[in-house]
Amino acid sequence: MANNLKIIPLGGFDKIGMNMTVIEFGDSIIVIDCGTSFSPNNMPGIDTFIPDTSYLIENADRVKGIVLTHGHEDHIGAVPYVLLNINVPIYGTPLTIALVEKKLKDRGIKKFRTKVIRTGNTIVLGTFKVEFIRANHSIPDAAMLAIHTPIGIVFHTGDFKIDLTPIMGDVLDLHRVSTIGSKGVLVLLSDSTNALREGTSPSEEDVNYQLDILFNRYKDNRLIIATFASNMDRVQQIIYLAEKYNKKVILEGEVMLSIFSASEKLGYLNIPGDVLIDMADMNRYEDKDIIFLTTGNHGEPINCLMDITSGNHPRIHIQKNDVILFSSIAIQGSEREFSKMLNSLEEQGAKIVFQDIHATGHACASELLLMYTLLKPKYLIPAHGEFRFRRAAARIGASSGIPNENIPLIKNGDILEINDDYCKVTGNIPLKEICIDGNLVDDMDKNLIEERRILSESGIVIAEVCFDSKSGRLVATPKITTKGFIGASNNDSIIKILQDALNAELSRLITQNVRDERLEAQLRSALSKCVYDNTKQIPIVVVLVTNVVL
Ligand SMILES: [Zn+2]
Repeated sequence: MANNLKIIPLGGFDKIGMNMTVIEFGDSIIVIDCGTSFSPNNMPGIDTFIPDTSYLIENADRVKGIVLTHGHEDHIGAVPYVLLNINVPIYGTPLTIALVEKKLKDRGIKKFRTKVIRTGNTIVLGTFKVEFIRANHSIPDAAMLAIHTPIGIVFHTGDFKIDLTPIMGDVLDLHRVSTIGSKGVLVLLSDSTNALREGTSPSEEDVNYQLDILFNRYKDNRLIIATFASNMDRVQQIIYLAEKYNKKVILEGEVMLSIFSASEKLGYLNIPGDVLIDMADMNRYEDKDIIFLTTGNHGEPINCLMDITSGNHPRIHIQKNDVILFSSIAIQGSEREFSKMLNSLEEQGAKIVFQDIHATGHACASELLLMYTLLKPKYLIPAHGEFRFRRAAARIGASSGIPNENIPLIKNGDILEINDDYCKVTGNIPLKEICIDGNLVDDMDKNLIEERRILSESGIVIAEVCFDSKSGRLVATPKITTKGFIGASNNDSIIKILQDALNAELSRLITQNVRDERLEAQLRSALSKCVYDNTKQIPIVVVLVTNVVL
C-alpha cells in the first residue's frame, strides 16, 4: 500500500469553490490550492467556508508545501487560516504569491514562507517534482501543474481556458501540454466548470471588439463599467479603449485596486499616459470624459456599485444619461438585490447596458476535448464543480477515448488510490464544515445556524421570572419582552395573552411545588404553544428564572 499514489480532495468536488486537493505518495504530501467558498444566503452571519484540514494537521510532518494554481479566492482564500495550523511553504506564480502575501500581512501573520515560481519552472517537493505550465484564465498568471510522481504524471489543470488571442500575456502553453501528453499522463485532474457549455469560450479579443462598439456608441456619456475585480485583461482593454476615445479612468473598489496594483507592480499592465486619474481630480474633466471602473458581479464585493446606486457613495452619484455597462456577468444567488439595483439605476435616469459576450475564464466542451486528446490520460478525474458539471466532463473524456471505468467521479474526502493495477476509492475521510464568522474559525454548528435563522425570521420572546430564594415567593410580576417578533408589533394584546399564559402556568407549577429545571422547561413549552396557537409563529422562546437573596 505504501507505494500507492493517493489523491484526496478536501474541497471543490461538490460545489463551486473551496478548492483543495491532497496528492500523497510514501512520506510526501503536497496540497494543491487552498480556497474559500461563499456562504449560501440561508446562513445568517456566516461569511465564508474553508476546507477541513484535520487530515493535514494529523500528517503535518509529511506535508511538503501548498502549491497554488492562481490567485482567485476559491483557490487562495483559506491560506491565512490553514497556515495557523500547519506552517508549510507556499508556492505560486508571481501575482498569486503577491496576493497571498497581502492577505497574510493584512491578517497580521508575519511568519510565513512563500516562494515565487514562474511558469516553465519545476520545483522538487519531497518525492514529487511539480512543473508550472502557463494557462489562460480570468486572472493573470494562472498555472497548470504537471506533478511528476514515482508512478507517473498527475496533471492538474487548475482553472483554465484556451484563449488564442488574449489581451494580456501569452496563449496557454499548448506545446508543453502536448509534449507531456506524448510522455504519458497517469491521471488528469480537470476543471469541469463549463463542461456543459458547447463549443469554445470566447476570446478576450472578441470582447474587445464588442467593447469598442459600445465605447463608440456611448462616447458622449459618462460611463460606469462593472466587471470582475480580478479580470485584468478586461481592465487593460478598458484602459486602451479609454485612451482611444479620449476618456479618463477612475478605479474604484478595494479588491480591484489591490489586484490592479499587484499586477501593475509586476509589469503586467500597460497604462498609457494620463489615462488613469485620481477621483480627487475628476471635477477637472467633463462628465462625458469620465469612466468609473468598478466591480459589480456575483462572487465579488458589489458594495461599491450598490453604494453608488443608493446614493451612499461619498463622491460618485448617478446622473441622468450615465451609462452603466456590465462587462461580463454571472449573477447567481443574489438576483433579488441585483434587480433591485438595476431598477433603481433606471429610476435615476441611467441607462443599463449588458455587454453580450460573456468571456468566461473556464474551458468549454471543445477546449476540454482538446486537452483530453493532447494529454491522453490513463485516468481522468473531473474536478472543480457540481456533480452535473463533472459528469458532463466525464462524458467528454469518454468521447476522447478514455474508458468509462477510468473516469472516477469522486467526492470530497474520498481517498483515491492508484497503482500499476488499479485506481479506486479505498476509503473516505469524514469532513466537517468549517466556517468563518467575522474573525472566528469554527466547526459549523447546525443548531447555531438554525437559531440565527429562526431569530432572523421570527424573533425572540423572553419571559423573566424572579423568586426570593429564602421564601420561595415571586419577587416581582413575571415579565414578557420580545425582539423582532412580528406578533407583538402587530397586536399589543398578544403580550397580554402571553403574560396571562405565563402567570397561569407559573401558578400551576408553584402549587405543585415544581421548582427545579422542570419549571423552566414547562414554562417554555406552555409559552411556545400559546405563541403558536395565537400567531402561528415559531420564535425562539427563552425563560429566565432567577433566585435572589433579599
Ligand atoms: Zn479561477
